[in-house]
This record gives sequence, structure tokens and C-alpha cells, in this order.
Amino acid sequence: MAEKISYNELYQKLFHYYGPQGWWPADSDFQMLISAILVQRTNWKNVALALDNLGKDVTAGTLIQMGEEELAEKIRPSGFYRMKAKKVKAWLNWFQKYDFQINQVKKADRDTLRHELLQVYGIGGETADAMMLYAFDKPGFIADNYAMRLFQRLGYSIPKTYDAFKTEVEASVPFDLDMHQEFHALIVEHGKQYCKKTPLCATCPLHAFCRTGKENTAQSQHA
Ligand code: SF4
Repeated sequence: MAEKISYNELYQKLFHYYGPQGWWPADSDFQMLISAILVQRTNWKNVALALDNLGKDVTAGTLIQMGEEELAEKIRPSGFYRMKAKKVKAWLNWFQKYDFQINQVKKADRDTLRHELLQVYGIGGETADAMMLYAFDKPGFIADNYAMRLFQRLGYSIPKTYDAFKTEVEASVPFDLDMHQEFHALIVEHGKQYCKKTPLCATCPLHAFCRTGKENTAQSQHA
């Protein structure tokens, strides 16, 4: 049976192995915010193409003036582009309340801000939490599919809903902005390098602590 480690120890081990990730991978805070919508149901490569089309100097002012069809064409590489253009427009309408000033948004209380974002068309928990964590300086755990898959494979019995999983992890690790920014980035990195759909358990740095890793190794030894 694999030794179970705490969520905090998991973070430490990932950080020790991969080092600081310095996320989010965007040229500006505003690009980060837009890309949190564009990345829904696609990968970063496609988002990067859409961001290139928008230009690295893209601002809220430019996008609010742009027609929805033109915006959709520019973000076409990210997929679901008509729906995403609608979502970006809805989010911009919300952002306008703060005069498109990220520093104004940062002054808002964390719970109020999350509640507001979740009222915007197309903004779910994961997108809201990414915006809050990487642009609005509000710490929090992003309980996305990478995290769900990794934690389940490690052998934690995690809550089934996004919010319950998020709350449980947040209660178990320091409530710190840098730590949460790194934790999410490290989980994604680990999901890309080792804990893929078909995991590479034999060489994984978490193998000694992972229930699935032990099971997979035992199976291959008996094969
Ligand atoms: S040992 Fe396998 S299942 Fe466990 S974390 Fe590593 S890659 Fe994922």
C-alpha cells in the first residue's frame, strides 16, 4: 500500500521536482483574463493562436468596440469560437463596471468577486477561479480535471463536486497566493509530463506515494 501524503506534502514534492512555474503563460494580465475563457474545452496551443490573432497589445477597450462576429473570427483557432465570442463580450460587460481596471477589481472582496463572476454568461467555477488566482490576486485552489485525475489516482477520496473538492483542499494547505498559483501550474505540468490519460507510472516522481502507480507496477510485474 502506498504511503498517503498530505495535500501540502504533495505540493512540496511537485515544487521540489519541477521548480517554480511562474504561471499564467500570457503576455499581460488582460491576455490572461481573455485566455481563461478561450482555453475552455481546448488546449493552450489553440489559445496561443487565437491570442496571436488578437495581438499582444489587445485591451478591453479594443475588444468592447469590436463586433462580435469579428471577434469570433479572430478567436476561431480556440474552437467553439462563436460561443466564446459571446462569453468574452458578456465578461467585458461585467469588467466595464470596474472601468476595465484590474486594480479596481482587486479591491473587491474574494467571495463577492467570485459570486459576481459566476453570474456572467459562460463563466464557471474553473474559469472564475483562474481569473481570480492569476489576475485578481485572490488565492484559491482550481479543482480542474488535472487535479481530479491526479488526486484520485494518488488514492485520496475526494469530494465529487468542483466546489466541495476546492473547499477541502483550501482548508488543508496554506491560504497563500504564490503557493496556490504554483500548485495549480505544477498539477497541470505533472498531468502533461507523467499523469496523462495513460500515465507513465514507472518513472513518475510521485510513484512511491501513489496507489495507482503501485497497482500499475504490480500488474506489469505479473504480466
Ligand atoms: S504514479 Fe502514475 S498514476 Fe500516480 S501520479 Fe504518477 S503517473 Fe499518475
